Amino acid sequence: MIASLEKLIAARIRQDVQGMHAYAVQDSRGMVKLDAMENPHRLPAPLQKELGERLAAVALNRYPGERIEDLRTALARHAQLPDGCALMLGNGSDELIALLALACDVPGATILAPQPGFVMYAMSAQLQGLRFVGVDLTPDFELDGKAMLEAIALHQPAIVYLAYPNNPTANLWDDATIEKIVRAAPGLVVIDEAYQPFSSRSYLDRLAQHEHVLLMRTLSKFGLAGVRIGYMMGRAELIAQVDKVRPPYNVSVLNAEAALFALEHEDVFAAQAADLKRERERLQEALKDMGLKAWPSDANMILVRVPDPARSFEGLKARKVLVKNVSRMHPLLAGCLRLTVGTAEENTQLLAALRSTL
Ligand code: PMP
Repeated sequence: MIASLEKLIAARIRQDVQGMHAYAVQDSRGMVKLDAMENPHRLPAPLQKELGERLAAVALNRYPGERIEDLRTALARHAQLPDGCALMLGNGSDELIALLALACDVPGATILAPQPGFVMYAMSAQLQGLRFVGVDLTPDFELDGKAMLEAIALHQPAIVYLAYPNNPTANLWDDATIEKIVRAAPGLVVIDEAYQPFSSRSYLDRLAQHEHVLLMRTLSKFGLAGVRIGYMMGRAELIAQVDKVRPPYNVSVLNAEAALFALEHEDVFAAQAADLKRERERLQEALKDMGLKAWPSDANMILVRVPDPARSFEGLKARKVLVKNVSRMHPLLAGCLRLTVGTAEENTQLLAALRSTL
């Protein structure tokens, strides 16, 4: 690097940013991709063709406008938005997490979440110069109610995140403990239901009871990870405040049109989710038959403990199966790999490859 550029970076880029690593996406070319909780099913070919025609007709010369409103309306219907609540859109829920940190950036504010959990909660705090407090789950990945309540009382967090189900542990937490946390929280509580298409429970019916709770969802796990649409629901007055920090045209017209098309065919995606839930049960059984500890899952992923995670991860990779080695993310995850549920064929390949690495 030329010396002047090096100086410029040292002087003008934040110290903590200079020390950070960019979010790493594993190279998945030619691999069975089971590392990122994507829906492995594509749109059926006739629908893909029809979508192509719809996208070809979109005017690209104008900023996103009415179609974004159409998408908000369609999502409100899809999600059964409760009375008195509003819905805002993000470029994936990752953007909503970043916007929440921006909106709550009062000096010394804290973001709190159980650990191990989704990395963006901590990252949003770091990028916004806020404090992040992680509270360990119990060894069986349940919320530690006492520790959570103590940490809330001590740190008075601006935001508490509860991923329901959690990533990477894939489980739902005890509802009574969640209720205690919600009642104790002095700031916002965000229930992140990214994995709702695969989950046996939702917080939606309880949303309207608490004015400080926001419910976040995404179309990524539904089957549109490439389209980048996240949404957040909550009391209209609160959503209106967070919406002020959203960049005006954060959702592209092409993304909005693709999402609208998908929502017109939600039965296709529901059938895909049903297939993945069946496959999840098959994988669970097969992993247990191999003598491995696999935790219950309400998502499209399974956390499994293997004798040597590095060997299994590399062995899978050599057999063209890409999963996520989470064993070093947190002490509670020692020995663990996170497997995304794929198609029946992909899962069969995964199981055979995994067996050969044990
Ligand atoms: N929340 C949770 C719990 C997640 O696991 C993920 C993605 N893995 C997201 C949010 C982000 O989803 P997206 O930005 O694709 O909407």
